[in-house]
Amino acid sequence: METNQIQAKKILTEAKGYLDSGFTHSLNPYSGCAFACLYCYVREMPIQRFKGTPWGDWLDLKINAAENYRNEVLKLRKKNKPVNIFMSSATDPYQPIERKANITRSLLEEMAEDPPDFLQIQTRSPLVTRDLDLITELKEKCHVLVSMTIETDREDIKQLFAPYAPGIKLRMKALKEIHEAGIPTQASISPVLPFTPDFPKLLEGVVDHIWIDTLSIGDGSMGKRSERLGMPKLFEENGLSRWYCHDIHVRVEKYFLKYFPRDKIRVSKQEAFPKL
Ligand code: SF4
Repeated sequence: METNQIQAKKILTEAKGYLDSGFTHSLNPYSGCAFACLYCYVREMPIQRFKGTPWGDWLDLKINAAENYRNEVLKLRKKNKPVNIFMSSATDPYQPIERKANITRSLLEEMAEDPPDFLQIQTRSPLVTRDLDLITELKEKCHVLVSMTIETDREDIKQLFAPYAPGIKLRMKALKEIHEAGIPTQASISPVLPFTPDFPKLLEGVVDHIWIDTLSIGDGSMGKRSERLGMPKLFEENGLSRWYCHDIHVRVEKYFLKYFPRDKIRVSKQEAFPKL
């Protein structure tokens, strides 16, 4: 892993695309991502396409993230602008190196001083539980949602599509701990990967929200990026083709509606912002 410490010009990026449903900004404490999921749409974005180093093999640490946040939020507040943050859209804020680097933690410390209106922490790492103290403090000052990506309940499927990402059982355990601490939680079934019939039951009582998105409608290009990444072929080679179809989000939503009330389930970009 090639790591660099960098001074970022800005830390808040104005929300666009699937995030402009209510989020005002995305926040990426890192560039690059050690989890290197095979389906990751960032692989197809300019930041990676012109990089020259494979996705998963490089990571930039934005060491001035907290300082930038403080200055940028101050400016937004002076203009009376709302601050609804999605952290993170193009990396995972809990990279393995975060254990030592504490960049995300320093951002949360800063947020506890100058809170946004809403913060969604989007991760697939159990390391998020390390910061439960700060997340609990933040919850008293603004809306917070911890959204754990759980694309499937099958470890074999996770191994196939995201071999370097944390295991599903560990993510479930972390989600339970966060929920039990009284923090609003979400399972982000994104992208939908083949799962067992028991998947919704595993999430019952552990999450307050379910968000569903797919490789066909959630890659920012209506499936073209996922195609370029070879996803249809990977599904086909593993006998999973019936899970790679354009309306899979409709079927998954229908199935989850047997276990969760309508107002707890949201689908794709139009509904990316949670009902608070
Ligand atoms: S964790 Fe997110 S950003 Fe990182 S490789 Fe996986 S999908 Fe991409």
